Amino acid sequence: AAASRTGAATATAGTGPLLAVTGQNLQAPLIQGGSVRYANLDYAASAPALCDVVDYLALVLPYYASVHRGAGFASQVSTSVYENARDTVRAFVGGRADDAVIFTRNTTDSLNLLAGCVADIVADSSADVVYLDIEHHANLLPWQRLPHRSVPAGTSLAATLARLETEFQAGSVALLAVTGASNVTGEILPIAALAALAHRYGARIVVDAAQLAPHRKINIAADGIDYVVFSGHKLYAPFGSGVLVGRPDWLDAGPPHLAGGGAVKEARLDSVSWATGPARHEGGSPNVLGAATLAKAAEILAVLDPQQLQDHETNLHRELVNGLEGLPGVTVHRLFTDSGKFPGSGTIAVVNFSVAGYDSGLVAAYLSAEHGVGVRDGRFCAHPLLRRLGLPSGSLRASFGAGSCTEDAQRLIAGVAALLESGL
Ligand code: PLP
Repeated sequence: AAASRTGAATATAGTGPLLAVTGQNLQAPLIQGGSVRYANLDYAASAPALCDVVDYLALVLPYYASVHRGAGFASQVSTSVYENARDTVRAFVGGRADDAVIFTRNTTDSLNLLAGCVADIVADSSADVVYLDIEHHANLLPWQRLPHRSVPAGTSLAATLARLETEFQAGSVALLAVTGASNVTGEILPIAALAALAHRYGARIVVDAAQLAPHRKINIAADGIDYVVFSGHKLYAPFGSGVLVGRPDWLDAGPPHLAGGGAVKEARLDSVSWATGPARHEGGSPNVLGAATLAKAAEILAVLDPQQLQDHETNLHRELVNGLEGLPGVTVHRLFTDSGKFPGSGTIAVVNFSVAGYDSGLVAAYLSAEHGVGVRDGRFCAHPLLRRLGLPSGSLRASFGAGSCTEDAQRLIAGVAALLESGL
C-alpha cells in the first residue's frame, strides 16, 4: 500500500510503510550481481528522513540566514522558523509552559549540557546522580564525571524499581538518569513510575528519549519528567540536531554549554554577564535547519494516531520475533520478565538477537551482501549492558519504524534461514 505524505496513513497495519521516507525504494547491490530493494532494519541507529521533512527543508532553505542577528527579511523568517520550532517541540513532548527548549547537536550533546548544569547542583547538595547499568554510553559517561552511583537493573521492572528505591534510601540523590527505551533490547522503562519514585526522594529525573520519542507519545508534564532529550536523526529528520527540554532553573544557573556570541547579556574584556533562557547554552550560529526539520518531523508524528503507529510497529516486531525464534540456534535477547506490565511500558520495535556458532559481524555482513538487508551489529554503545547480557563480543539488532513494511521482516528471517541452510 502507498505510504501517506500527509500523516493520514493509507496502509493496513503491518503490510506497508506508514509514512513515506527517503530511500524507501533504494536498490542495494548484491555480491553475486544485480540488486534488490534495500531492507533497512536499522531505524534505531538513524531513521531515514520523512519525505515531508525533506520537502519542508527545501521550502525553508531559500531563507537561509543567521538568526537573532539581522533586521533583513531572510533573517527574520529564519528567526521565526527557529523560535517556532521550540514551541512545536515543547508541545510534542507535552512540556510545561515554562520548560526550556534548547537545541543541541544530538542526544549526547543534550546530556552533556545537562551534566554541566547538574555539576554545581550535586556539588552544592552533596547528592549523587543515579543511573542503571542498561544505559547507552551517552547517558552514562557524562554522569561518570560527577558524583554518581550505578544500579544494576533487576531481571524485572518491578525488581529494578525496588533496587532504585533502596539506592534512594541509601543516600541523597539529585538526579535519576534513565533511558525511555533501551537501544539494545527495545524494552520501554516505566518512566512515570520512575519519576514518581525520584520525586518521592526529592530528586529529579532526566529521560533519554533517543529511542522512545520516535515511537511513543511522550507527555513530560503528565508523567512528571523533569528533563527529556532526543536526536533529530532518529526522529526522521536529517543529522545534526538534538534537543533538551525541561525545567529552566538548573539550566539558567549552570555554566553556558558553549561560551560565545549570543550567549551573553553583556560582555566586557575580562568579564561577562551570561544570558538566561536557551540563548545561554546556544552560543554561536545555531543549526537553524536542524531545529526546523526536527520540529517538522515532530509535527508530522504528532498528527499520527499513536495507537496506529504502535500497532504498525508491534505487528512487524511480532512477525520478526516469531520468525527468528522459529529458527534453530537463534536467540532473541531481552532484559525484563515483566516487560509491558507497567503502564506505558512494553517494547518498541527493536529485536536483539544472535545466531549460535556465528560471529555477529559476519552475519550482518552476509545479510547485507547476499540479501540486501541492513542490520546493526556490535555492542551498541552499551558495553556494560552487553556484558550483563552475556554478549561481550556483541550481537545483532534489527529495528523498524514508520517506513518499514512486512517484507523487511520477511527478508531478514529468510536471510538468516538461508545462512543456516548454507552451512557456511
Ligand atoms: N541514547 C540512546 C538510547 C541511543 O540509542 C542513542 C543513539 O544510538 C543515543 C543516546 C545517542 O544519540 P546521538 O548519537 O544522536 O547523540
